[in-house]
Amino acid sequence: SYGTLAGRTAVITGAASGMGAATARLLAAQGVRVALLARRAERLEELAATIEAEGGEALAVTADVTGQASVDAAAERVHSTFGQVDLVVNAAGVMLPNPVDEGRTDEWQRMIDTNVTGALRIIRAFTSDLVAAAADGRTADLVNISSIGAHVAFPNYAVYGATKAALTHLSSSLRTEFGPRDVRVTNIEPGLTDTELGGHIDNAELSGQLDGMFDAVGALSSEEIADLVAYATSRARHINLRQLVVLPTRQA
Ligand code: NDP
Repeated sequence: SYGTLAGRTAVITGAASGMGAATARLLAAQGVRVALLARRAERLEELAATIEAEGGEALAVTADVTGQASVDAAAERVHSTFGQVDLVVNAAGVMLPNPVDEGRTDEWQRMIDTNVTGALRIIRAFTSDLVAAAADGRTADLVNISSIGAHVAFPNYAVYGATKAALTHLSSSLRTEFGPRDVRVTNIEPGLTDTELGGHIDNAELSGQLDGMFDAVGALSSEEIADLVAYATSRARHINLRQLVVLPTRQA
């Protein structure tokens, strides 16, 4: 079981699947009101219904983190329904590997817009909530889902890795701004995890390479990452688990 999470209000991006969805479900089961953000409305509605059937409280908010107007509208919807937010999880992300010399600028742009700028847009939309919650003596958390790819170079994943290195660095930098105001920043760097993330790869060889890795080392589950989010955010507010690197034991 976790410390006290009940009564908190969370915004979770990437909540349509994978780690974001699992995190939403686990936090809701702990008594957290959860706003679910992603692009696929049906997925969010389905998850919200599941959470409510389990006795939780959830709000499905269709949003694209690559669009400022979409994020502004989502923030307005969250605020008008739930009021102040005290827990933000940036899990939205895309992974589109290809050799850099293929020059897939469309993929580079999409990864940068989603993984870096998208997270920044969400941070900007909810920073004043986190700061105000902390000033009121409540626990306030920003959790960024980065990747082991922020540290380990992997062929064909240069741009994805660069976006995750940027996110990890952003977490460190934000800690210098938010920490003194009692807002905690937790950066999680998972290894191979069984989600939909690899499903957007349009290169058969690289898709096969990823499948081979799953076969060779196994994978973590989304629920295992959600467990870490719940653990880190339920510590006493003066304790910051800054950096969680979590890999399947067999992953090199
Ligand atoms: P999923 O693909 O299952 O989840 C990604 C989520 O992001 C989806 O729910 C998707 O929903 C949402 N999303 C994508 N683009 C946007 C957008 N423009 N606006 C809003 N939401 C968006 O994969 P994971 O759960 O694995 O990914 C979660 C995070 O974990 C990502 O940041 C990923 O990089 C990171 N990660 C994953 C690892 C793994 O092995 N799986 C390892 C290390 C890190 P929708 O399409 O409906 O918008």
